[in-house]
Amino acid sequence: MSQQTLSKAGTKASSGYKYTFAARMAKTPKSFIREILKVTEDPRIISFAGGLPNPELIDVDGVARATAAVLAEDGRVALQYSTTEGYRPLRQFIADRYKKRLGLDISPDEILITNGSQQCLDLIGKVLISAGDHVAIERPGYLGAIQAFSLYEPVFHPVLLHEDGLDPAQFAHELKANPIRFFYGVPNSQNPSGVTYSEQRRKDIAELLRGKNTLLVEDDAYGELNFAGKSLPSFRQYLPEQTIITGSFSKILAPGIRMGWVVAPPAIMEQLVIAKQASDLHSNYLSQRIAYEYLTHEDIDTKIRVIQARYKAQAELMVSLMKELMPASVRFTTPQGGMFVWVTLPEGISSMEVFERVLKEDVAVLPGTPFYTDGGGKDTLRLNFSNSSPEKIRAGIGRLARVIRDMDRP
Ligand code: PMP
Repeated sequence: MSQQTLSKAGTKASSGYKYTFAARMAKTPKSFIREILKVTEDPRIISFAGGLPNPELIDVDGVARATAAVLAEDGRVALQYSTTEGYRPLRQFIADRYKKRLGLDISPDEILITNGSQQCLDLIGKVLISAGDHVAIERPGYLGAIQAFSLYEPVFHPVLLHEDGLDPAQFAHELKANPIRFFYGVPNSQNPSGVTYSEQRRKDIAELLRGKNTLLVEDDAYGELNFAGKSLPSFRQYLPEQTIITGSFSKILAPGIRMGWVVAPPAIMEQLVIAKQASDLHSNYLSQRIAYEYLTHEDIDTKIRVIQARYKAQAELMVSLMKELMPASVRFTTPQGGMFVWVTLPEGISSMEVFERVLKEDVAVLPGTPFYTDGGGKDTLRLNFSNSSPEKIRAGIGRLARVIRDMDRP
């Protein structure tokens, strides 16, 4: 029995009662990020470890106005139970935005409102994965998806991610070798790597899936955060009947309202709605009404442009400092959007050791191993740039580079 199974299955109360849990819990990793965030709560620490949107860009006054309006105009309805699928005008708003941003024809009937887009991943796992099913995922992959899917006990097939997207040759090989239920990926400003798939890569991946019995789950949590305001095609454009898209208001409105959605073809939607019903009846209806009120009365496009400009400046500053200060053997991505830079350390340098050393200098970084389902990534780090001021980025990258330079000396 592994150590993890022992500690989970053998937790004892002072009365001697032994708590036991479903076997699936032992297979699900605890979020390492949440553990690290506990360490970094100290305000003195410059944290590149988390993944929070910049709090200065959260429009508290706008949300207050929207909340007051909803409660004043329709409070009794907004505080009542509602439908599982979600507030229809909000679903229509999302559908219209897909048309405007990506030229996609999506019916509101194909949209289900969820409790953040994280819930989509749980629901997708619930309706698509039986224990032992094969799931392909990016390497490195989004930790929240690894955690959500792990509860349904799949066999993961990590596929290498390059600066221009997924490795098509390895993906083709995985598709041939195993009956893959679905591929899960984040083609826009991926978490953790910051990579955006090129248009050609999207076409390549779609072609590999055409005619196959494999779905594609496109997590588009960062789709609106491209620094140039540019939108690359969704996989739905190439494979409308095989693509599920997940979306979120967390990065453009506020994560605390926990509003996300999933777009799926009708047969899948039917199953997702059943799973959602069983899990929480429906998403917070008051939040849905507030989000809709906000989105239709405030200038969301201008707000998104402000977020893009701020994150672009912060990302550019971080990357330029890294170019200037890091040893040449350190590699890192240049994100076109999102919130993260991904670092690969020189051979033989452990990211866990970098984490420990730089924490002594009040800087927190995130070792990359939790983003690997195969134990890899020991020489990688994820750096968040959205939640640090330019001063903190300057100071933090300076200290991080010094630590890595010291460790890199022969
Ligand atoms: N997908 C990705 C790729 C993410 O980075 C996140 C947030 N860390 C989520 C989904 C979940 O976000 P939310 O539930 O707030 O929509």
